[in-house]
Amino acid sequence: MYKPLIYLVIAIVISSCVNKEQTDLIVTNANIYTVDGEFSKAESFAVTNGKIVAIGSSKEINSKFVSNQSFNAEGKTIIPGLIDAHCHFYGLGLSMQKVDLRGTKSYKEVIDRIKQFQKEKNTHFILGRGWDQNDWEIKEYPTKEKLDKVFPKTPVAVRRIDGHALLVNQAALNLANIDEYTEISGGEFVKINGKLTGVLVDNAMGLINKIIPNESKKEAIQALKNAEKYCFDLGLTTVDDAGLSKETIDLIDSLQQAGDLKMRVYAMVSASKNNLDYYLNNGIIKSDRLNVRSFKVYADGALGSRGAVLKRPYSDRERHYGAMVTPLDTLVKIAKRIANSNFQMNTHAIGDSANTFILKAYANVLKSQTNRRWRIEHAQIIAPEDFDYFTEIIPSIQPTHATSDMYWATDRLGEERIKGAYAYKKLLDINGKIALGTDFPVEKVNPMLTFYAAVARKDLNGYPDGGFQMNNGLTREETLKGMTTWAAYSNFEEKEKGSIEIGMFADFIVLDQDIMTISLDKIPNIKVLETFVNGEKVN
Ligand SMILES: [Zn+2]
Repeated sequence: MYKPLIYLVIAIVISSCVNKEQTDLIVTNANIYTVDGEFSKAESFAVTNGKIVAIGSSKEINSKFVSNQSFNAEGKTIIPGLIDAHCHFYGLGLSMQKVDLRGTKSYKEVIDRIKQFQKEKNTHFILGRGWDQNDWEIKEYPTKEKLDKVFPKTPVAVRRIDGHALLVNQAALNLANIDEYTEISGGEFVKINGKLTGVLVDNAMGLINKIIPNESKKEAIQALKNAEKYCFDLGLTTVDDAGLSKETIDLIDSLQQAGDLKMRVYAMVSASKNNLDYYLNNGIIKSDRLNVRSFKVYADGALGSRGAVLKRPYSDRERHYGAMVTPLDTLVKIAKRIANSNFQMNTHAIGDSANTFILKAYANVLKSQTNRRWRIEHAQIIAPEDFDYFTEIIPSIQPTHATSDMYWATDRLGEERIKGAYAYKKLLDINGKIALGTDFPVEKVNPMLTFYAAVARKDLNGYPDGGFQMNNGLTREETLKGMTTWAAYSNFEEKEKGSIEIGMFADFIVLDQDIMTISLDKIPNIKVLETFVNGEKVN
């Protein structure tokens, strides 16, 4: 070879390296649903400093970028990291330190599981969650006698699946000084023949909550880390925690700053007087991983425990309308205060009457303000005349609630009212966007179940055959948007997450199946192979 030619070859090699931009991570050969405005697909992208800097074909990206770290997806599907727009992330972590009663088929099984739990943990105050009398042969609230026999001295307090009813034993009632004469507004001590059964509904639970010992800081950190691992493994990269104390938010912030917690958290602040005073005075908190700019407010209870507030009585309980959890004038006062700030108000409203009240209150205090993105959490039963309010208000809904409740919701509501319940498609059509979540640990964490319930409107038993009220089913594209870019929008975060586009955080997940084309019945079994947050593998 002549010398000049050698120099030329070397020069080309050097210049092609020099011209390539150094990045932190290159992903190639993927089947990417970017969830951008056109819902377009791509093959490859490059990541620098936790953000996506280029996207295109594998050839394009390889020709322009070099990286020490590359990920060849070998044709697998990649979608944006999933957002759960309404969940209880910290609550999940705490529940992992409590007896899990989900899926129990009888009251006896509840007792057996508590016994087993106590044998292992030997705690001073037994806490648990997840029983649902609707799953039992005898679909009635339990009574505490059996619990008293097994645990005469150790207090026991176990929540119903929806968190709106609590079963306690006599030891717990004694500690809380509750007897048959104790009264409460916005709740109920369930009695039979004037005697306490040990079941407490909504505000009545507060008296027990007061005597439950607080978790230590060490336990709180453990809870957050356990919840994070569980959620990363299932493909969640942002969680909207619906109701946190200042103490927990501060703890999350400090763990994130130290690099000990990588989950992105949209923290809805529990709207207590103290919290409102503090955050409205101090303003929004925003970092790459934490966003504190909303309050969580409770209007009514839940449908399962007949706490949701209906316009007409429950179809399966005479003269019973449910109960507001927060007094009406307090709700209006809170709404006014938040309307005068730049915070968002996210209110739990399930019954049609509770929804009417909140929708009207929102409209009254917001007047002509736009882009406030206030949300109704659950928006479960909506009167026909109220749907139009959702042009400005974002419905934050949980598709697995529909498929969990469908077995008994018609009993509670009757044939007519059920038509305006779990009406996700109708809500979407009116707003143009919808935020999807689970309400875990009320429902399972797995976002594939949300996807399946939204599209198929069936539960894991494949019930019912044609799907539940299929006119309110969502398409796969709508569902994926609801779990990514629209959820991000409901958090004022659509410019930083929810899609795989230049400038966005490199939050994405790798699936073992193509969620957009695989047959519907296989969706619940889709596995998340890899979860990346900020370009870093976290599972
Ligand atoms: Zn919730």
